[in-house]
Amino acid sequence: TSFAHFNFDEQLMHQIRKSEYTQPTPIQCQGVPIALSGRDMIGIAKTGSGKTAAFIWPMLVHIMDQKELEAGEGPIAIIVCPTRELCQQIHAECKRFGKAYSLRSVAVYGGGSMWEQAKALQEGAEIVVCTPGRLIDHVKKKATSLQRVSYLVFDEADRMFDMGFEYQVRSVASHVRPDRQTLLFSATFRKKIERLARDILVDPIRVVQ
Ligand code: AMP
Repeated sequence: TSFAHFNFDEQLMHQIRKSEYTQPTPIQCQGVPIALSGRDMIGIAKTGSGKTAAFIWPMLVHIMDQKELEAGEGPIAIIVCPTRELCQQIHAECKRFGKAYSLRSVAVYGGGSMWEQAKALQEGAEIVVCTPGRLIDHVKKKATSLQRVSYLVFDEADRMFDMGFEYQVRSVASHVRPDRQTLLFSATFRKKIERLARDILVDPIRVVQ
């Protein structure tokens, strides 16, 4: 598979060319077409596999399709991950590739300033990258609304469970409308993750790195 197989438009291809990736990684070859098709997906993949781009590129296509259909407020896509560092890394990738369409990304995580994050959310962004507990805090304080979210990603789900975030992860899923597309990434596929997948995904396709 080459990047051309994904049928991305010229703006996105331009950003990918700038990154100097020569060819898609295995998780991208398998995962991108599934995510583009609108199906739910479980990706068993580790850091270094290129999983981040595998959910960001289809997310950008999804947002551009959705933006025209649904005016309104609040993010269209949410990426939930375990730590501040990962939030910042994913946020940087969203900005890098989101430039293709002038999309805005905001990162909200535990430990950062509630006030500054709330301000950034209120200024508006199509993409929110977050840790789960902090996102729920902002939703409760009405700093943002999740009513427009239709693309939901959980990254490093097993690590979120190890850190004790299962309740918060499930809470985020319950705040987003059920007809969304959901992608779940995890380095391992243990019983607890399997159970989560059964509860929050609909007829998912499983991809193993
Ligand atoms: P990730 O597994 O998403 O954390 O990505 C690991 C690293 O691989 C990051 O530095 C990415 O920028 C890089 N990367 C992602 N996709 C590709 C690709 N197709 N070719 C080369 N490097 C890539």
